[in-house]
Amino acid sequence: MQISILQFQTPAKVNIRLKITSRRPDGFHELTSIMVPVDLTDYLEIRPLDENRIEIFSEGYNVPKDESNLVYRAVRSYYDKVGIDKGISIKLTKKIPVAAGLGGGSSDAAAILLMLNRMNSKPIANRELHQLAAQIGADVPFFLYCKPSIASGIGDVIKPLKDWPKFWYIIVTPPINVSTAWVYKNYRLELTRNKDISILNILEQDSFAISRILENDLEQVTSAHFPIIETIKRMLMDTGAEGAIMSGSGPSVFGLFSSERKARSAKDYLLPYQLGELFLAKSWE
Ligand code: ATP
Repeated sequence: MQISILQFQTPAKVNIRLKITSRRPDGFHELTSIMVPVDLTDYLEIRPLDENRIEIFSEGYNVPKDESNLVYRAVRSYYDKVGIDKGISIKLTKKIPVAAGLGGGSSDAAAILLMLNRMNSKPIANRELHQLAAQIGADVPFFLYCKPSIASGIGDVIKPLKDWPKFWYIIVTPPINVSTAWVYKNYRLELTRNKDISILNILEQDSFAISRILENDLEQVTSAHFPIIETIKRMLMDTGAEGAIMSGSGPSVFGLFSSERKARSAKDYLLPYQLGELFLAKSWE
């Protein structure tokens, strides 16, 4: 019997901008966001199984290994869609902090969908794959493309951006628990303008006007309860970042740097303060 093992890496994302534009009657929030994939990655390994079951092993940051794992849900929904009746073993090496605003679970799920479709002799159309991804989670479709993009709708409508400038990112993940559901529940739309100015307009005027683009409506909720968010932002700015902001619903905060040298020296400076996990990343290509 021939056993083939496939290995691949899945990137994290940062939200350069996240503006909530409305709340839908079903409770979901509509938003506009700029999302950029970065090369802080998880590692996935898949192997076909003779028996018809989905098994998950994981190393690194702790994640569920049962049906609630987003990877499990991705495999299940793909198999159900195409009528495949096979088994698969998945080894997840989690290097992206979990529930950190970095989209690790969504990225793993999208990568599995892409891989299963590539391995299928009768692949489904991109549009159908996109639909499956959106059913798993609002951020999953973004990771099917893995390009700097403007996301709209509930995050599931993706428009890739041309010429996103090259930045280096210092990502700081403080050791606090923030649930995405809690942040959205505590978010009050009336506190922010509910119209977003056209991001494209700003980018077309000057693609390096990063300080005009950086904004995250959810930051007010998370940082009101966790002052460390503001502390990290301030320290990142003090080290020479072009800008600093919380990613997604947090608690990760990142700073953008115009050169690798500046980012490295910022990381060295921040290390002794023990603000949390520190990562140096660049755009995922
Ligand atoms: P987002 O910014 O989209 O809210 P996040 O980075 O905050 O994403 P994830 O790391 O994707 O959040 O994890 C969110 C939740 O999903 C956690 O409670 C985690 O236990 C669960 N989860 C299920 N499967 C995975 C997976 N493969 N990787 C990470 N988390 C997973």
